[in-house]
Amino acid sequence: MSKPVKGAIDQDLRNPVRDRHRVVIIGGGFGGLFAAKFLRTASVDVTLVDRTNHHLFQPLLYQLATGILSEGSVAPPLRQVLRKHKNVRVELANVTAIDLLGKQVVAEPPLGPPVTLEYDSLIVATGATGSYFGHDEYAAVARGLKSIDDALELRARIFGAFEMAELTEDPIERRAWLTFAIVGGGPTGVEMAGQIVELARRSLKGNFRNIDPADARVLLFDGGDAILSSFGTKLSAIAAGSLERIGVEVRTQSRVTNVTDRDITVDGPDGIDAIRCHVKVWAAGVSASPLAALLAAASGAGKDRAGRIEVLPDCSLPGHPEVFVIGDMMSLNNLPGVAEVAMQTGIHAAATIKRRVKSGGSSHDFVYRDLGSMASISRYSAIVDFKGIRVSGLLGWLMWVFVHLAFLTGFKNRFIALAKWVGAFVGRSRDERTISMLQASARVIAASLAVRPGEEDLTRLIEREGDA
Ligand SMILES: Cc1cc2nc3c(=O)[nH]c(=O)nc-3n(C[C@H](O)[C@H](O)[C@H](O)COP(=O)(O)OP(=O)(O)OC[C@H]3O[C@@H](n4cnc5c(N)ncnc54)[C@H](O)[C@@H]3O)c2cc1C
Repeated sequence: MSKPVKGAIDQDLRNPVRDRHRVVIIGGGFGGLFAAKFLRTASVDVTLVDRTNHHLFQPLLYQLATGILSEGSVAPPLRQVLRKHKNVRVELANVTAIDLLGKQVVAEPPLGPPVTLEYDSLIVATGATGSYFGHDEYAAVARGLKSIDDALELRARIFGAFEMAELTEDPIERRAWLTFAIVGGGPTGVEMAGQIVELARRSLKGNFRNIDPADARVLLFDGGDAILSSFGTKLSAIAAGSLERIGVEVRTQSRVTNVTDRDITVDGPDGIDAIRCHVKVWAAGVSASPLAALLAAASGAGKDRAGRIEVLPDCSLPGHPEVFVIGDMMSLNNLPGVAEVAMQTGIHAAATIKRRVKSGGSSHDFVYRDLGSMASISRYSAIVDFKGIRVSGLLGWLMWVFVHLAFLTGFKNRFIALAKWVGAFVGRSRDERTISMLQASARVIAASLAVRPGEEDLTRLIEREGDA
C-alpha cells in the first residue's frame, strides 16, 4: 500500500493521498502545456488547472478575428491534447489564491464550492492580459486580442461594421463604419491591419450592393517612431512600406488620447485628430496576470513595469525553490513575452522537477535559445529576424507558414489551417464569417446606432430576427 504524502490533509478526489510527487500547473498556455507534456515520463502526478477548456494558439488569433480560421483550429481542448498523458489530470477552474506556506492552490470551478489543490511542486503559467495604460474604460469600445472571446467579439464587430455600412444611408455614418482603427504597431496590430485591408479589398468583393468594401480605411497608430521597432530599422521600414502599398494608413508618433464608441482621438505630428470610427482594436501593451501581484506580495519578490515577477535564474520564486513562475508573467534577463520563452521555461521547470524527483539533483540556470521572431504583413509578405539574418517578402512569408504549421497543436488543425490559407491567400475566401445580429456583440454595435436619427433600420432588423 502507498504511504500517505507528508502534509496531505484533503482526502477528496482532487488530492489523492499517494507517495507520488504532486505537481500543480496553473495555466494551459504555451508554458503550462509544454511543462505538462514534458512530465509525461516523470514519476509524478500532474494537475493542470485552467479557467478555459482549451490551449490557445494566440499567434493566430488575428486570423480568427478576420474570418480565416475557426476557433476550434486555434484552440484545441486541453483534455484532448493531453488524453494520452495518463499522469495528467485537467481541471476547469479559476485559480484565486496560492498559499505558499501551506503549499496549496485555491481554485473556483464553474460548479460547486472552491477546491483546494495541494502540491509538492507548483508551476505558475497564467500569462498576461491586455493593458490600457490606466484607461480601462477604453476596453468596452476598443477590444483587445488576448482570448477566444476577444477574437469572436472583434470578428462580430468587423463583419458587423460592413453590414451597418450597407444599411445606413448617411454618408458620414457609412464612412465611420468603414473606418477601422488599430492601436499599437507591434506584430498583433500589424497583422490585424493587413488582414482587415485584405478582407475589404479582396474577400468581400462583390458581396454588397450599397457599398464598395474596398472603400474601407484601415488606420494603424503607434506612439513610437516606427512600427515593429523590435525588428530593427530596416525590417520595420519594409513592413511599413508593404502595409502602405496594400492600403493601410500607418501613423507613427501618434498617441491615442481618447476612445469612445464613435471616435478615436490621436495626438500626432500634425496635431490632434478626432476620427469618426466604430471599430477599434487595442493591440498596445500587456501586463502580467493578476496572480503575479499576488505571488509577489506573498513572497516579497520584485516586479517589473509590466507587473511580471522577478524570478531567480532557474525560474523559481525567490525563497520558494518548489515554485516556478514561467512564460509571460516572468521577468528574467529582459526576455520578451513570446511563445518560445514560455515553451522553453515550461520545459526547463518540468525538467528541474523531474530531475529532483528522480535523483534529488540541483537546479540549473535557464538558458534561452533565441529562435528569432517573425510577423506576417499580408498574403505573401512577412518579416523574419533569425539571429541577425533578416528576411522579408515571399521567402519570409513561406518561413512564417512553415513555423506556424509546425507549432500549431494537432495534425488535423495543421491540415485545416493549410487548406484555409490556400483558400484565403491563393483564393479570396473567408469561410469563418458567421455572425448573428442577436449576438451581444452585435448589440454593442447597434447601441451606438440606435440613438441616432435615420438609422432605425438595425433596430428593426434585430426585432425582426428576434421575432423569427
Ligand atoms: C494576439 C497575440 C499574438 C501573438 N503572436 C505571437 C507570435 O507571433 N509569436 C510569439 O512567439 N508570440 C506571440 N504572442 C505571445 C505568446 O502567445 C505568449 O508569449 C504566450 O502565449 C505566453 O505563454 P504563457 O503560457 O505564459 O501564457 P498564455 O499562453 O497566455 O497562457 C496562460 C493560460 O493561463 C490561463 N489562466 C490565466 N489566469 C488563470 C487563472 N487565474 N486560473 C486558471 N487559469 C488561468 C489562461 O486561460 C491561459 O490558458 C502573441 C500573443 C498574442 C495575444
